[in-house]
Amino acid sequence: MSQIPPPRPVERTPVDGDCPACGRAELTEYDVVGETGWTHVVKCGHCLTSARRTPAHRLGPITLLVDQL
Ligand SMILES: [Zn+2]
Repeated sequence: MSQIPPPRPVERTPVDGDCPACGRAELTEYDVVGETGWTHVVKCGHCLTSARRTPAHRLGPITLLVDQL
């Protein structure tokens, strides 16, 4: 029987500034994946509003050796 691997923790980097929706200073940046591929987001940790969304590397946080050459 196959085992399901444990979920990988998402490292979130704190960002200066206040949430545009609720005003709290709880913004963090990290990569998320959705129907448009990987996206680099700055989100509020309280209400999950996206302050910024920009396209990320095609594999998100995964780096291939060939990309480091
Ligand atoms: Zn907020």
